[in-house]
Amino acid sequence: MKIETLAIHAGHTVDPATGAVSAPIHLSTTFERDADGTYSRGFMYARNNNPNRQALEHGISALEGGAAAAAFASGTGASMSIFQALAPGDHALAHVDAYYGTTRLLREIFRRWGLDISFVDMSDLSAVAKALRSTTKLAWIETPSNPSLKIVDLAAVAKIVREAGGICVCDNTWAPTLQRPFDLGADLILHSTTKYFGGHCDVLGGIVVAKNENGLFQRIRSIQYEGGAVPSPFDCWLILRGMRTLPWRMRAHSENAMRIADFLSRQRKVSQVHYPGLKSHPGHEIAAKQMSMFGGMLSFEVKDGRQAAMSVAAKTKIFTRATSLGGVESLIEHRASIEGPGTTSPEGLLRLSIGLENADDLIEDLDQALG
Ligand code: PLP
Repeated sequence: MKIETLAIHAGHTVDPATGAVSAPIHLSTTFERDADGTYSRGFMYARNNNPNRQALEHGISALEGGAAAAAFASGTGASMSIFQALAPGDHALAHVDAYYGTTRLLREIFRRWGLDISFVDMSDLSAVAKALRSTTKLAWIETPSNPSLKIVDLAAVAKIVREAGGICVCDNTWAPTLQRPFDLGADLILHSTTKYFGGHCDVLGGIVVAKNENGLFQRIRSIQYEGGAVPSPFDCWLILRGMRTLPWRMRAHSENAMRIADFLSRQRKVSQVHYPGLKSHPGHEIAAKQMSMFGGMLSFEVKDGRQAAMSVAAKTKIFTRATSLGGVESLIEHRASIEGPGTTSPEGLLRLSIGLENADDLIEDLDQALG
């Protein structure tokens, strides 16, 4: 099946009890045992599993071409399960420009927990090779990255890490359906389903998809059950519903973002536009090789720094000043101030999550805000 068809049908069946075409939401926390004490219907207790979570895991796993998936209450909860599945003393590599929440998780929680972590610019392959150690178990790739839209050559990094005996995780939150990490050598895919999967800024969630249902994935599954950071049945239902329109939304987000990047790159008050769809972007060729379109996220730098950037964000009328991404509505945010102390985001940088409004309206809004 092609991706649009899979997105609509994977994880969905007509309800056998009622014929309902849209799946029911099962709120029950506990499930009946058979007279002989077994659970022939497959469910025992909602933290371990429930019909809506199972449908979501089957659906997203099928969409990514994986063998299994484990859903969590947030993208961060899902990321955490991957690091917890390693052992203290293991070494992990993470992209220097990874989502700042993931970086904080590693610095503030997993370093204390005993994980050995190196941050490396993964757009530089020789830096990746140099950072490897005999204890390296995992490389955390994020591409395009946040907020500088750096591009990492997924296939090349996966090869280097695999040859050294490690596995590759791709945080594919920014490019679902546009980029196929398993085909490029990733072993695990992470999504914050809060973003494009949910698609409407009204549900938090995360998922780990595994290429193989191996020992590492079994540990992640056990962290899901025993740790209990699970999504509610309603949240699972919302995310699976969001998935049905995901490939079409991603196309429209990408088309709009391309037009806006092009507009911004011609503005005299803008010093730089970070969007991999622009030919001037240093990662453009690799992005064109590994992505079918360039996604709905971009950032740009306003000349004259922080105050000038803040004042552009203050003047937008259609763009909402808010963090997060992947919804139908366009958002603008001054990244350095949301990230706070330790941020590496330039002070003049504004990040845009391009929504599904008409691109002409979005361009007009940015035009008047830039003055
Ligand atoms: N990964 C990326 C690339 C993100 O942008 C985010 C959130 O912004 C996360 C992970 C964390 O997801 P959540 O906010 O659902 O915990």
